[in-house]
Amino acid sequence: MSVLIKASGLGPVRLVFKQLSASRALSLSTKYYAETDTSKQKSSAEHFDIIIGGGGLVGTALAVALAKNKVLSDKRILLLEGAPPFRGFNVETQYGNRVSAINGNSVELFKSIGAWDYMQERRVKHVKQMQVWDACSDALIKFQDEHFAADVACIVENDLMLDAMYAQLADKNNMPNVEVRNNARIEALRLSVDTGDNYSQVHLKDGKTLTCELMIGADGANSLVRKQMNIDVFSVDYERRGVVATVQLEDACDNAVAWQRFLPTGPVALLPLSETLSSVVWSTTIAHAKELLDMPATDFTKALNEAFFKEYPKDGVVVNAMNTLNSLIGRDPNILRQYPPAVNDVIDKSRASFPLGFLHASSYVCSGAALIGDAAHRVHPLAGQGVNLGFSDVRELVKVLADAAYAGARLGDKHYLIKYEQRSLAKNVPIMVGVHGLHTLYSTTFTPVVLLRSLGLQLTDTFSPIKNLFMKRAMG
Ligand SMILES: Cc1cc2nc3c(=O)[nH]c(=O)nc-3n(C[C@H](O)[C@H](O)[C@H](O)COP(=O)(O)OP(=O)(O)OC[C@H]3O[C@@H](n4cnc5c(N)ncnc54)[C@H](O)[C@@H]3O)c2cc1C
Repeated sequence: MSVLIKASGLGPVRLVFKQLSASRALSLSTKYYAETDTSKQKSSAEHFDIIIGGGGLVGTALAVALAKNKVLSDKRILLLEGAPPFRGFNVETQYGNRVSAINGNSVELFKSIGAWDYMQERRVKHVKQMQVWDACSDALIKFQDEHFAADVACIVENDLMLDAMYAQLADKNNMPNVEVRNNARIEALRLSVDTGDNYSQVHLKDGKTLTCELMIGADGANSLVRKQMNIDVFSVDYERRGVVATVQLEDACDNAVAWQRFLPTGPVALLPLSETLSSVVWSTTIAHAKELLDMPATDFTKALNEAFFKEYPKDGVVVNAMNTLNSLIGRDPNILRQYPPAVNDVIDKSRASFPLGFLHASSYVCSGAALIGDAAHRVHPLAGQGVNLGFSDVRELVKVLADAAYAGARLGDKHYLIKYEQRSLAKNVPIMVGVHGLHTLYSTTFTPVVLLRSLGLQLTDTFSPIKNLFMKRAMG
């Protein structure tokens, strides 16, 4: 079912509810398994304890975390990635245009699996402050450690995170129980929950069939594993794209602040990479994203500087209310305001764009299978939470599987998997609702909404307990 809702000032929002029909599941089964004796399948197929479908950031982190866990050291683990082998990361080359703001919990995961030093030795940018403000009202919020000691986030290239994971996975002495196969696209699945057997069958594009006790879907937002689990999803197509680029700053500086301004078309963020370079994530309409990609470099630079510095028309009601609030709480907004560094060039070929949407699976597990990362949940990048939620799933799932193995239970035992689901839902849902709410709140110039969000932002910035709560939730 697909419903198109037109909300005042919000533009069209497409809500899509999907459920795989039994007939589709049947047709997949029919294609590969008609007249197949499943016991013969297992005896002829290669068997693993755990198969992870998808070697993106979250799937590779899970493979390393499982292999590093002592209780699971006798388990045979296979990571299947449809793409060719990862090309590696070279610190001498230009920064990649895909970067992530990583929170404290993700850094803890990397430390626990021995990947953090590897990244730090190459290039990680420590962010000491974040400033977020509204183009329609100038309401602003700053996040920082009181003494500028702790990071509010770290900016890491996605390729460097992958490189750190694949470097570990390639070390056979370090992790003999895990194997990686590239160019290994999963074409079809027959999950144990459907067959009643104790194992799932994984059918690859090259015709090979594998079996496993536990199937993990880390195969991204269009997850085949999720579809085969017959799980409902709630999804919203934002009809926006995230334009990314690496840009050169006009003047070298400390560059330890992450900046984000909410424009009427969506948020634009400038994330520090080095003293002279920053990374852009600009969420905007599909037509505008195309323009930003196609325009000459000088025009892009001009448009980006305008996005951060241009004065937008402000509603008198909002201006008056903000002035009243500022005088009541004794705050001079001009003293508090900082401005981002100006940009003077965009690095050649660094511009690209990605579709933006929201997705949440109604369940993350079934007997013999579990979902992690974008396969289970996808959020707008405005709060830099997507992959952090995926890394949080990794930590929760490994704990639960170690508990199951320690107790002598089957890895696919739903009683254990459900604990993973409960713990992850408790962490993910409030953040996902918050991020989706922010996207909705900032997608309009409707005066009452601008007024409400501006007063809310300014008050949150003023009252430390509320702000600290946000920081704790989002920054780990
Ligand atoms: C513009 C932008 C900026 C972002 N910034 C941030 C940020 O600052 N902080 C943050 O936390 N998050 C951020 N995110 C979100 C983050 O990028 C995602 O949450 C994260 O990449 C999801 O990782 P994943 O491994 O779950 O899925 P994916 O990256 O989608 O990986 C899935 C993998 O599975 C493989 N695969 C798929 N199907 C199959 C199959 N059938 N067989 C075998 N393999 C298969 C794919 O090839 C892929 O490698 C951002 C997202 C965007 C778009």
